[in-house]
Amino acid sequence: MPNALTWLFLAALLAASATRLWLALRQIRHVRAHRDAVPPSFAGSIPLHAHQKAADYTAAKTRFGAVDTLVGALLVLLLTLGGGLELLSRAWAHAFAPGSLAHGAALLLSALFVQAIVSLPLALYRTFVIESRFGFNRMTLRLFFVDLVKQTLLALALGIPLLLAVLWLMARMGEHWWLYVWLLITAFGLAFQLIFPPLILPLFNKFTPITEGELAARVAALLERCGFKSRGLYKMDGSKRSSHGNAFFAGIGATKRIVLFDTLIDRLDPSEVEAVLAHELGHYKLHHVVKMVALSAAMSLAGLWILGQLIDRPWFYAGLGVSTPSTAAALALFMLVVPEFMFFVQPLLARYSRKREFEADAYARGYAAPSHLARALVKLYHDNAATLTPDPLHSAFYDSHPPAAMRIARLEAK
Ligand SMILES: [Zn+2]
Repeated sequence: MPNALTWLFLAALLAASATRLWLALRQIRHVRAHRDAVPPSFAGSIPLHAHQKAADYTAAKTRFGAVDTLVGALLVLLLTLGGGLELLSRAWAHAFAPGSLAHGAALLLSALFVQAIVSLPLALYRTFVIESRFGFNRMTLRLFFVDLVKQTLLALALGIPLLLAVLWLMARMGEHWWLYVWLLITAFGLAFQLIFPPLILPLFNKFTPITEGELAARVAALLERCGFKSRGLYKMDGSKRSSHGNAFFAGIGATKRIVLFDTLIDRLDPSEVEAVLAHELGHYKLHHVVKMVALSAAMSLAGLWILGQLIDRPWFYAGLGVSTPSTAAALALFMLVVPEFMFFVQPLLARYSRKREFEADAYARGYAAPSHLARALVKLYHDNAATLTPDPLHSAFYDSHPPAAMRIARLEAK
C-alpha cells in the first residue's frame, strides 16, 4: 500500500539520483572544457599528454559512475517497492519458520547476495575495461576471482555470527534493543580494526618489513621527531593489483603499522615518502582518526535509534513494499533506504574531510619540508591520472581531498 513514506522515499531516491547524474554531467563537461591546457601552476611539472590522459580517465570513470547510479537506484526500487524483499521473505518461509533467526539471516544474506551479483559485472568492467584501458590494472582474471572468493568467505565467516547476534538482540532485548545492537557493532568494529593488520591484510597481500636504507632511516627519524610509535614499516605488493600508489596506517593501538605500496616507493624518493608520511602522521596526531571513529559511531547510534522508532509501525513496512513485517525485513529496508536520504549529508562530510586534509598538511610542514610534500603530490596526481581541473560543485559535493592546486598553493605559501 503506498502511503506518505512511499512518496517521501521516491522523492528522496529521485532527487539523489538526479543530483548524482547532474553532478556527473557537470564534471565531464568541466574536465573536457579544460582538457587542452595544463593549469598555469602545473605547467612546468605536468606535461600536456598526462593532463589529457587525466581528463579522459576522469570522464570515463564519471560516465561509469552514472551507470552505477542508475543500476543502484533500480535495484533499490526492485527490492523495496518492487516487492523483491517480500518475495525473498516468502520464499524462505518454506524452509524456515517466519520470524525465526534462521529465516531472518537467510532473508538478509539473500538480499546481500542479490546486490553482490548485480555489482559483479560492474566491478569486472571497472577493473578490466576502464582501469586496463588507462594502463592501471595489473590484476589477472584469476586473481580477481581468487580475491572475490576470499572476500566472500571472510564476509560470511565474520558476518553470519554478527548477523545472528544482531537479530537475536533485536528479538530479545525489548524496546531498547537498538542500544544493545549499537554496543555490539561498535565493539565488533573496534575488534576488526585490531585484527585487520595482523590477520586479514596478509590474506590478500605480502608485507615485507623495511629495516635498512635511507627510507627506513628517514622514517625512523620522522617518527622520533613526531613522538609516534608503530609496529614497524612495511612494503606491500600493491603492484600485483594496480599501479596506483598509496600509503596508509593500518590498525589501532598496539597493532598499528605503517604500510607503503611498492608502487609508491618506486615512484617517490625517500624525502618525498617522508613528507607523505608526515601528512599521514598529522591525521593521527591531530586525532582525526579517533574523531572519524566517534562520528561514525554517533551516526550509527542515531540510525539504530530511528530504526527502533520505526520497527513496530506497520506503515513503515507497507510504505516500502513489505507486507509481512519482521525484524530482518526492517533491517534490510533500513539499509536500502537510508543511503538515499543520507546522500544530502555527503557534502558536509566531504567538507569536514577536506578541512582535516589541510590540517594534516599544516602539521606535515612542521616535520618535513613542504616542498617535498608538494613534489610528491604532483607526482601522485600525475601517476594516478587524477584531474587537476575538477568541476567546483562536483568537488565540493564528493571530494575528500581539496583540489591539488589549493593544497600545493598552501604548502608553498610562506
Ligand atoms: Zn590525508
